[in-house]
Amino acid sequence: MHKKINKILLTLIASIVFILTFSLTCGAKSNEEIKSFKTLEKGVLTVGTNATFPPFEFKDKDEDQEIKGFDVDLINKIAKKLNLKVNIVDMPFEGLLPALGNKIDLVIAGLTKTEEREKIVDFTKPYFYGKQSILTLKNVNIKQKEDLNNLTIATQIGTTANEFVKKLQEEELNNIKIKEYDEYDIMTQDLVRKRVDCVVLDDIVAKNQFNKHFPELNLTQGSVLNCPTENYCIALPKGNEKLLSSVDEILNDIINSKEYTELQEKYINIKLKSEENEETKSNNSIVNQFLTTLVEKERYKLYLKGITTTLVISVFAALLGFFLGIVLAVLKLTKNKNGKRSLIGKIANFYINIVRGTPILLQLLIMWLVVFKNFKNGVFVAIVAFGLNSAAYVAEIIRSGINSVGVGQKEAAESLGFGKFGVMFYIVLPQSIKNSIPSLCNEFISLIKETAIVGYVALNDLTRAAFSISAASYQTFMPLIIAALIYYIITKTISFILEKAMKRMN
Ligand code: GLN
Repeated sequence: MHKKINKILLTLIASIVFILTFSLTCGAKSNEEIKSFKTLEKGVLTVGTNATFPPFEFKDKDEDQEIKGFDVDLINKIAKKLNLKVNIVDMPFEGLLPALGNKIDLVIAGLTKTEEREKIVDFTKPYFYGKQSILTLKNVNIKQKEDLNNLTIATQIGTTANEFVKKLQEEELNNIKIKEYDEYDIMTQDLVRKRVDCVVLDDIVAKNQFNKHFPELNLTQGSVLNCPTENYCIALPKGNEKLLSSVDEILNDIINSKEYTELQEKYINIKLKSEENEETKSNNSIVNQFLTTLVEKERYKLYLKGITTTLVISVFAALLGFFLGIVLAVLKLTKNKNGKRSLIGKIANFYINIVRGTPILLQLLIMWLVVFKNFKNGVFVAIVAFGLNSAAYVAEIIRSGINSVGVGQKEAAESLGFGKFGVMFYIVLPQSIKNSIPSLCNEFISLIKETAIVGYVALNDLTRAAFSISAASYQTFMPLIIAALIYYIITKTISFILEKAMKRMN
């Protein structure tokens, strides 16, 4: 009896152990298997995408620009099961496939499997099916292919839509004009502004854009153009079979599970605005716009952060520009023994001319991409770029201030025993700076406004904050007007304070 119970117990324990190990090894990949995955960095899956394709991949405008979307969630699920960490790299769409295998391990970007692409990369099984569709303004109706003739069509560079329209132009409708863009958002905005007649793009993304610009737009399914169904797949470099088959296997499991339905619920099943009831449509009063721009999701905080960035850059750049400007002005006026401009003077003059004769945006980009290419701190680079730029203008202001100080004063000072430098630093400079204060104040105010371009070096200043809020709230008028108002208040307050201070000094 005892022996029998023992036997039963033993078999039970053995089966539990067996089932446990079996299920564990099935759920996650074994260590051996993980080690055999060829990735650029051990234990990390470096994923390339182009985050301008909502709802598949997009930057969250409200929360520190994090990349989100259907594809992002999907690849995170896959990587988790592969026991790999995910590192997402955002790059231009047309740069994704060339980067496979050298900068990234795989591409997930709502990418359609095509014959051309299959020649250079491997594709997984499809995880989504899409179609092309057409966005037009309300008064344009596309009922058949021929209606596209004579229209200007916008498409994103390197996409299947781009290829499709190009082929159509070559083979059937020679009068189509094609405009190529980098971003869907800008394409649709140009459509609304009537710069193009229609946009051809993937249907889910089209719905997303339609909802942003409803009620200006019409959405037509691509079936009127006989567009084929497109299979969205993940792309891997050729020859990484182990990783490919594992990704495929996991993808298959996910697609057949409730996880996939949840993903679809979360990102894809977007209701078209035109299908919603009228209530939401009419609720776009000025007050409502104001509330969505400032109060909703605490967006005013984005403005506050933006103001801080703008002011920090402006104030420090102004200080750098002021001191450097004085040095430049004095150097420019130095003379050699023959009474002509010295070599240092010529160099200073050359610098001033170059800086004043080239766009500040280019100077900023040269600093960011060339001179400080290994620096991550954009604020520092912006301060240096704007400081160096402002110095050239300050130098000219101070120089004319110096010239305005009478020769008599200089001679008097010299006769009192002041040396050349003494005259400059104790007599001439203080007076010329004092005379230049109104122009220096103007320079500071211009500087504040000029910093509106720092968004180019990935900084979230006041202007950038307005763009972000505009993209997140689907409003254009209110976010931009509020930013303009804030700039106005800042510059007015500063000139008021400076004027008051000057009156005191006088
Ligand atoms: N599905 C389209 C393509 O593969 C568009 C993808 C995208 O723009 N991210 O070309």
